[in-house]
Amino acid sequence: MKKKISEKTLKREICNVMRVLFERRLISSVGGNASARLPGAEEFWITPRGLFKTELKPKDLIKVNLQGRTVKGAGQPSHETLLHAAIYRRRADVNAVVHAHNPLTVGLTLTGGELKPLTVETGLHLRKTRMIPYVFPGTRRLAELAAERLEKAEAVILQNHGVVGVGRSLSEARMRVEILEEAAAIQLVAVLLKKKLPTIPLRDLEKAESQTA
Ligand SMILES: [Zn+2]
Repeated sequence: MKKKISEKTLKREICNVMRVLFERRLISSVGGNASARLPGAEEFWITPRGLFKTELKPKDLIKVNLQGRTVKGAGQPSHETLLHAAIYRRRADVNAVVHAHNPLTVGLTLTGGELKPLTVETGLHLRKTRMIPYVFPGTRRLAELAAERLEKAEAVILQNHGVVGVGRSLSEARMRVEILEEAAAIQLVAVLLKKKLPTIPLRDLEKAESQTA
């Protein structure tokens, strides 16, 4: 049976996720944002704008509704609140959204190359990842575009910007952000050595997908 999660735990987990993203160099101390909600809730908790993400406390988080309006909390919600809200509106199964600025993923995809399935694990996640052309951060346009792509995906790469991972839990959403960076790191090493890259055959990815489904 699934353990019920409390809002208190949820808020502590959001702060932890931001610390981990910083330690893994996926965000700077002021970049990125994360949010989470209790399953099916019409409101969610999100990181504030302006504060150092490495020093966040649960009391700093802001509660907003699915239109992105503040319901509880003293500060200003994240610049990307509209993006988080748009995703929750379209995906009833998503309870967490993590946005980071993965340097290798952003850099590598800017060179025109897309991430390739070089291991089964990264290949599986890449099949659930979509690219989004550059759109100015924090805008309604970016929010709608990302949410639309995420109707049939679990992560998006925002050109010239970063990545967004979604999941049923914060650890699932965070894992998707981390795996994209892992895929980019593997590809970068391989490309630097100028080898033709042997990719994982599609049939193997489909086999792995059926085993994890
Ligand atoms: Zn960003």
